[in-house]
Amino acid sequence: MIEVRGLTKRYPGRTVSRNAVDGIDLDIPEGKLVTLLGPSGCGKTTTLRLIAGLERPDAGRIRIGDRLMCAPAEGVFVGVHQRPIGVVFQSYAVWPHMTAVQNVMFPLQSGQKRLPKAQARKRAMEALDLVGLAEFADRPAPALSGGQQQRVSLARALTREPEVLLLDEPLSNLDAGLRDRVRDEIRAVQLRLGITTVFVTHDQDEALAVSDEVIVMDSGRIVERGQAQDIYRCPKEEFTARFMGISNSLPGTVRTGAGEVAPADPADPGSPADPAATTDIADIDLAHGTLRCVTTGPTAAGDRVNVFIRPESLLLSRKDPSGRGWKGTVEFSIYHGDCWDYHVRVGDTLLRSRMYREKVGLTHGDPVFVVPEQDTAIAIPAAASEDA
Ligand code: ATP
Repeated sequence: MIEVRGLTKRYPGRTVSRNAVDGIDLDIPEGKLVTLLGPSGCGKTTTLRLIAGLERPDAGRIRIGDRLMCAPAEGVFVGVHQRPIGVVFQSYAVWPHMTAVQNVMFPLQSGQKRLPKAQARKRAMEALDLVGLAEFADRPAPALSGGQQQRVSLARALTREPEVLLLDEPLSNLDAGLRDRVRDEIRAVQLRLGITTVFVTHDQDEALAVSDEVIVMDSGRIVERGQAQDIYRCPKEEFTARFMGISNSLPGTVRTGAGEVAPADPADPGSPADPAATTDIADIDLAHGTLRCVTTGPTAAGDRVNVFIRPESLLLSRKDPSGRGWKGTVEFSIYHGDCWDYHVRVGDTLLRSRMYREKVGLTHGDPVFVVPEQDTAIAIPAAASEDA
């Protein structure tokens, strides 16, 4: 539905060497919700604004459906009002002097296709109903909560029945509880309408929760793309691993090259092998011992890798009956409500372990064994991660 090729945008006067958007290619399938995920300044908002027609690219092509929207080399540029899109911004952008329904009706009564008032109101009421706000239709916009105002702006974006919905950090201005509710509503509406959607966020949890596919960006480029579960469980690039919160990273060397077929569920070594799985398992020698890891590509004995271990895959124990534990010392712990994070020094390395049990009673200075789970850590070839 959306096809982007070689998209490039440079802002005048920028001192950094890279373009804000640096020659990216994207294919967004019809009816899917795809997230652009990355840290602040990586170019995700600019990419969305280019798709919307709110910015002009320096190079590249954007196609929506079978229509070319822009191609600077051919002098093609379709303006934002002519594109078959609806946009929702972080800042809601609802008009304070109007009621909810007047906000949603406004685009239907302006521009080229002006609908009569009664028809515009009917369409606007349908859109408000879709986002669960029909009963608030006649309330002045400032008397709505932040979450309700954001749903008004979603209804307004949907009311012209766009082919594509573009959402720029739509949850950022909402408080934590409301954010989850509005997020779930956006996903429910998107699935109900089957509308092709691009969702921009810097929040990995948000991206995992709503997306059919996640595209990870850094410095104006695409680092990696994949289904949410794959991006979370088995990132192929070091940048993605770190960005997805896999905070423990240890250099290692492959002892035996990958060859076994990975279990269908890497988190459950007992699950049946999936012959189609491309991930493999290899024994990796680390400074503290050997660990069986999921590898992201072919490996051979002696290859250098960086091993990424999730905090929840490092278990802590006062004793070490398995003999696989790494001797360490607790430095400090942080309470998160549903879990504890322990920072444990093992040799020169500070590791983070997340325990979901009630506090295991460890405190600063306590000796402890860190027992890494087998088959869940990810080994990324050192060369690949250095290139990223
Ligand atoms: P955030 O999550 O903070 O919104 P982002 O990933 O959406 O970040 P962009 O807003 O696309 O990033 O910005 C990409 C780069 O382009 C940044 O370095 C930013 O400073 C720069 N930039 C964005 N808009 C402009 C502008 N109007 N003029 C100059 N530079 C800009």
